[in-house]
Amino acid sequence: MEPNPNEQHAGPNRARWIKAMPAAVILVIFIAAASADYVVQSGDTINQIAAGLGVSKAELVAVNGISNPDLIRVGQVLVVPGQTTTATTTHVVSAGETLAGIASKYGTNLDSLVSANGLTNPNLIRIGQQILVASGPAPAPAPVAPAAGSTHTVSAGETLASIASLHGTTVEVIAAANGITNTSVIYIGTILQLTGGPFVAEPTTTPTVAVHTVAAGESLAGVAGQYGTTVEALAAANGIADPNLIRVGQEIQVQATVSAWSCPVPGAHYFNDWGFPRSGGRFHEGNDLFAPKGSPVLAPVSGTVFFQNGPIGGLQFRMFGDDGTTYIGSHLDTMGGTDGYVTAGSQLGTVGDTGNAIGSRPHLHFEMHPADGPAANPYPTLQKYGC
Ligand SMILES: [Zn+2]
Repeated sequence: MEPNPNEQHAGPNRARWIKAMPAAVILVIFIAAASADYVVQSGDTINQIAAGLGVSKAELVAVNGISNPDLIRVGQVLVVPGQTTTATTTHVVSAGETLAGIASKYGTNLDSLVSANGLTNPNLIRIGQQILVASGPAPAPAPVAPAAGSTHTVSAGETLASIASLHGTTVEVIAAANGITNTSVIYIGTILQLTGGPFVAEPTTTPTVAVHTVAAGESLAGVAGQYGTTVEALAAANGIADPNLIRVGQEIQVQATVSAWSCPVPGAHYFNDWGFPRSGGRFHEGNDLFAPKGSPVLAPVSGTVFFQNGPIGGLQFRMFGDDGTTYIGSHLDTMGGTDGYVTAGSQLGTVGDTGNAIGSRPHLHFEMHPADGPAANPYPTLQKYGC
C-alpha cells in the first residue's frame, strides 16, 4: 500500500506556521470582481450559473463571448449580463479630508472604504494616501451557493471573510464545514470545504457480511464475540439448530451490526490541528492524539485493518471501516494484531513515535477519509464521541 505522503509529524514545523494575513490588496480585487462578475467554481455548469444569477443562459454566453458553453474553467470570470459594472476609482486624500467625507462624496459608506482599503483606524488617513473607492450603482448579484463538495485552497493574503465573499458564502458556513473554531487564523495551503456541515462519522446499522471459517477449538460464542454479534444472530443467519454443534472448517455467515464509534486513543490530549502547514506545501490532514508511549490504540469502528511500516508514517494501520470511512493511524510503537477483520474498540497497537515522528512527543497521527476519498477533519467526530 502507498505510504500516506501527507503524513508529517507534529514536531519542529510548528515554529514556522504562517498565519494567513489579511491583505487589503486581495480584498480590493475581490470586491471589484465579486460585485458585478461571477467567478466560476469547481463543479459549476453554465446552466447552474445562469439559473443562480437569474439570467438566461443565452445572454450569459453572448455577453461573455463563450463559444462552447460546455467548456468553462474554474476561476474564469464571467460578466453578469444586465448589471452595471462597479467603477473603481482612486481618491487621493487632500488636506482636511476625512474618510467619512470621502465616503459621502462618492456615495458610499465608511465601512466599505475601511474594508476595501484594509484600514485598521478610519480616523488615521494621511494627505496623499490613495483610497480605493468602489462607486456607482452596483446591485449585488444573487449569491450563488458553492456547488456541493467544492473546495478552496487557502493562499497567502486570504482571510476566511475574503474566501467566503469570493464564493458567495459566509464565514460561519465555512467554519462549520471545516470544524474551524478560531475564524481569525487560517493557514496557507489548507483545503477548505465550502459547503455542508463538518463530516462526522455515524455508526451504521447496515449489517456487514463476512464469512468466518471455524478453526479447531472455536465456539459459536467465541465467533460471535469476535465480530461483535450474538450467538442467536449467528444461529439464525446460518440455520444452526444447536449452537453447540459447529465443526472445524464450517463457514459461518457473519452479519455483524457495526457497533458505536470508539475513541482511537482514550484519554489522549489533542486539539484541532487539522490544516496546519507541513513541509513541501502540504498540510496536516488529520489530528494528532498525544498520549504516553505504550497507550492502547483502538479500532474506531469495525472493519478490515492492514498494517504497514514506512519511513514517514512509521508503523501504521489503515482500516477500511464498515462505516465506509477509511481510517489511518501512524507512528505506532507496537502492532496489536495482524491484518484482518476487527471490531470497534479492538486494540490495534500502542502509541509511539515511529516514522518521521522519531524523538517527538508520542502521538497517534489520525486521519479519516470518508468513502475512501480525500481526508476530512477528524476533530468533529473525535469531539462527538467523547475523545
Ligand atoms: Zn499528525
